[in-house]
Amino acid sequence: MIDAQQIYKAFGNLAVLKGVDLKVAKSEVVVIIGSSGSGKSTLLRCLNNLEKIDSGNISIENEWLVKNNDLKQAVYQSEREIKRICTKMGMVFQHFNLFPHMTVLQNIIEAPMTVKKMKREEILPLARELLKKVGLSNKEDSYPSQLSGGQKQRVAIARALAMQPDIMLFDEPTSALDPELTGEVLKTMQNLAEDKITMVIVTHEMGFARAVADKVVFMDGGIVVEQGKPEDILINPQHPRTCAFLSRFI
Ligand code: ATP
Ligand code: MG
Repeated sequence: MIDAQQIYKAFGNLAVLKGVDLKVAKSEVVVIIGSSGSGKSTLLRCLNNLEKIDSGNISIENEWLVKNNDLKQAVYQSEREIKRICTKMGMVFQHFNLFPHMTVLQNIIEAPMTVKKMKREEILPLARELLKKVGLSNKEDSYPSQLSGGQKQRVAIARALAMQPDIMLFDEPTSALDPELTGEVLKTMQNLAEDKITMVIVTHEMGFARAVADKVVFMDGGIVVEQGKPEDILINPQHPRTCAFLSRFI
């Protein structure tokens, strides 16, 4: 599904990713944890081509997106191929970025119509099914400003799913929400996991990670320090840096 090897990424002379490996299998839920500035968002953005890597290999669904040449410099596919490969991934951000002038339903059908050239009648049944899945069937004609943060985030999830991606990437989807609204978004993501959707999730919600992740990846200082089953990483971490990070959550 996702195979990223030895990813290096710097912003100017700030090295942010220093040889990260990440493998995500079909239907797997991988949760990435780590302190602020450790490179979690940058890694997700590199997977989705929102940032270009300096060196390394990334393949998505067995198709290479970028690979090293003999000088260990990253060489990308053509823009056209990159676009095609990256539509296999949907992304949900901390700030929902809904189109404010469009209704909930319009927000969801926009990309399938413009990017995938689907007809409105073709996408509407899927859009309504997705709204049902995120528990917002009664909100299709509302505008984003009329929704709570948790509802907006659930629309953002439905909007990403409307492109029928093979993989969903989430970057701290609940960290901009009031605590009482995080549960409904986490529940929605848990339902997706039960539907066997492949997901990579950056979050600080350790209870969610414990309950839903197949694999937890701990990043620190631009490297993967430790990864494994949630019970091993969250309950029995081996590395002192993982222990130090987790001690903040107790
Ligand atoms: P947080 O938990 O706070 O979201 P993070 O693990 O997601 O942190 P990143 O956002 O990946 O961390 O940032 C890693 C480092 O890269 C930080 O030092 C950040 O300042 C830097 N950085 C990120 N994006 C850019 C950019 N576009 N230009 C310059 N520096 C950047
Ligand atoms: Mg981040």
